Order: sequence, then C-alpha cells, then structure tokens
Amino acid sequence: MERFFTAHCLFKKIYREGYLFKRYLRELQQSYRLSADELAAYQRRQLRDMVQHCYKNIPYYRDQFRQLGLKPDMIRTLSDLSELPILDKQTVKDNFDKLIDRKRLTPWCHKAKTSGTTGSPGVFIRDRDAIVFEHAAVWRQWAQAGDTGKKRVTIRGGMVVPMTQAEPPFWRYNPIHRELIMCCYHLSPKTGKAYIDKILEFKPSVLYSSPTIVYTLAKLFKAYRVRYPFEHIFMSSENLSSEMAQLIRQVFDAPISDWYGQAERVAAIATCPQGTYHIQEDYSLVELIDTPNGKELVGTQLRNKVMPLLRYRTGDYVADESPDCTCGSNFRTVANIIGRLNAYLVTPEGYRIFNTTHIPASINNLIETQFVQEKPGEVRIKVLTNGSFQTEDREALIQKTLQYTSPTMKVEIEEVSHIPRGPNGKFISILNQVESLN
Ligand SMILES: [Zn+2]
Repeated sequence: MERFFTAHCLFKKIYREGYLFKRYLRELQQSYRLSADELAAYQRRQLRDMVQHCYKNIPYYRDQFRQLGLKPDMIRTLSDLSELPILDKQTVKDNFDKLIDRKRLTPWCHKAKTSGTTGSPGVFIRDRDAIVFEHAAVWRQWAQAGDTGKKRVTIRGGMVVPMTQAEPPFWRYNPIHRELIMCCYHLSPKTGKAYIDKILEFKPSVLYSSPTIVYTLAKLFKAYRVRYPFEHIFMSSENLSSEMAQLIRQVFDAPISDWYGQAERVAAIATCPQGTYHIQEDYSLVELIDTPNGKELVGTQLRNKVMPLLRYRTGDYVADESPDCTCGSNFRTVANIIGRLNAYLVTPEGYRIFNTTHIPASINNLIETQFVQEKPGEVRIKVLTNGSFQTEDREALIQKTLQYTSPTMKVEIEEVSHIPRGPNGKFISILNQVESLN
C-alpha cells in the first residue's frame, strides 16, 4: 500500500501531540465537567489574560481601546465584551498587519488561507499554542466517543491523488495514525467497488468524514448490498439531514458525532455522547447575537496570541438553545447549526466534487465566487470582482478549477454585480441545479 508522507506525518504527530498536547487534553477533560460558577471563573481568567495581551501587544486593539476610552480591566466577563465592536472579515483584511504580534510570529505558526463563506480569500495566522489546543479539543470529543487512536478511515475535502489518475489506489496509508486516507474526489459509481473492497480489507474501527461524503459512500455500499459496522462515525463541516442519517445508520450501524468549527477558529460546537450539541465554552467565548436571520455565532479567541480575534462574526447561525443535557457538562446546548450546506459538482466522469473553497483562494481580485452547475460536466463560475480582474486572473481561475474538478470539465466564467444569498442570508458557494442530495 502506498504510504502517505510518513516523515511529514511523524513531524505533525510530534508537533501536535507532545507534552503540551497532553497538558491541554488533561485541562480540557477537567473543564468539561466544571460547575457553572467554576466555568465562569475559568472564562474570566482566560479572558483577562487575552485582553491584557491584546492591549499590550496588538496595535489594532490598543488603538481601539484608546479610542473607546477603555482599559483592559474593564473587560472581564462575557457581557463586558459588548463594549467592543464586532469584528468582521473585511476589517481583519484591512487591518491584517496591525492584528499581529510580531514577536510571536515564528516558523511554528500556521498561515491558513481561506475563502471563507463568501469565496473571497482571507488569511489567518495561528500559533503553536492555538494549534495544539485545537487538536486537544477535537481529541476530547473523540475520546468521549471511545476513540483514543483506533484504526481509521478518513475521507475529507483534501485531494489525496490527482484527478488525472483514473485507476486505484485512490488512497494512501498513514502508518503513524493507523489511518487510511481516501480521496473523496474519485468517489463515484464507477470506482465505488474499489473503495468498498479496500475498506473491507483494511477493517477500520472508525470513519472520519463529512455527511455528504458518508452519504455517498453509504449509497454505494447499499447498491452493492454490503454492510460494514463501524464502531463510530465522526463528521464535521455540513448538516446531516434525517434522510442521510437514516441510510448511514442502516449501512454502517454506528453512532455519529458531529463537530462544528471554522477556519478562523473562534467557536466550536460538538456533540456529546448523548448526541446533544454543546458550545465548547473552554475553547473560546461565544456570544449568540440576535439578527433578522437568527442567532449568529460571534466568537472571542482565548489562545491564539499571535493574531487574536475578539468578537469575530462567523456568519453562521444556530437554532435556539435546547434543554439541558444529561451528560454532566454545563456547556450551553444548541438545537442545531443552521446554514452548513451540502452541495457538490458532478464532473463529466461522474465524480462528485464536494469542496471548491480552495479554488478561488489563490486567485487575485476576487471578492465573491459561486460555482453553479446547470448541466452535469459543466460549471458556471459567478464572480464578483474588485474591478481589476484581468485575463490572467480569469485564466488562473479556469486552470485551478480544471485541476480540482476534472481536466474535461467545461468551465465558464460570468462576472456579476451581485450574488444572491440563500436561506438565512447565507452565502452559497456551490449551487447544484442538476442533482440534489435528497
Ligand atoms: Zn451533553
């Protein structure tokens, strides 16, 4: 079996799962069970530390505090935060240099380039502390569900083998994590049997993926009349409809955990073993702000000191808080996360492309990008530009689309002055008018 960047995986494990990771995981396992008062005290300590840091070391916040006549000790609790204005993606872009603590900018930092919700690129820097803490927070959910390093299959949005490869293997093996990493881009009725055979041969305990991909996989298993009992399925990124959940349970017979996060890492929501969504109150400070579209998640980071985001609006919404859960945690509960959309493009070869967010990320002069499919094998990219979108930008966008979908995809670019929003005012990055999931 082809091995997957073993040296890189080993480095990643050492970087993310060393002494610091173990300390954070211990802390996080304790804070999950804090009483309401203890939790509030924990948040106040973390917030005080972060606000002091921002005032001393981040030029953007120092200026803002001065303009507002605020001193760091005036921001102590979640409700005090409302003294500060809400931060949006455009403000982060406009003030990028002033939001960074240069002393903490080391080669250990990670620069995440994201197209976010509107298809326009943004850059966020995370330091090692924040990366390791994030990893420990996710690991806590895995451990609660009984996974402490079991044999796993991962099928996510990343491209594992290039689209030009037509024959298996469409996967790689990462021996460090006993993980079979399968390519979601090659998953189709034509290749389905190869995926099923590989999973049966590998005998994984757990599956890491997103609902659309697991649903596609479940449909293929059903078509070949094969069932495979996973011990647990972990999902993130999109909403799981009841129809999808029903088929997934029928084929894979496994409990499902869900994780919500975003590239900016300002808020996390995770299901507990009871299946209830809990705001991860020790991960960041989360405000639920009433808007005409519902309650918007606004998050304040507590760890990422190289580029801290205070009161950052995510553009994501939650359904009303649900009743208390019996799992023993005092973290607030929500009924659901609204607006995580499930859509994909179909290539001429019948492959489904579940993720287009990295396509516009490196293209210049784009503000918003929407991929519209009106016929299979064809895509029309609606672009809202800053007015300086040149022929070379257009060509780069086409080439990148071909690279991440299919070399035979028919690509058309349409410059528009507005891209209409979907339900709840949410931006839709893939609009498939040919095929829907349910
Ligand atoms: Zn719970």
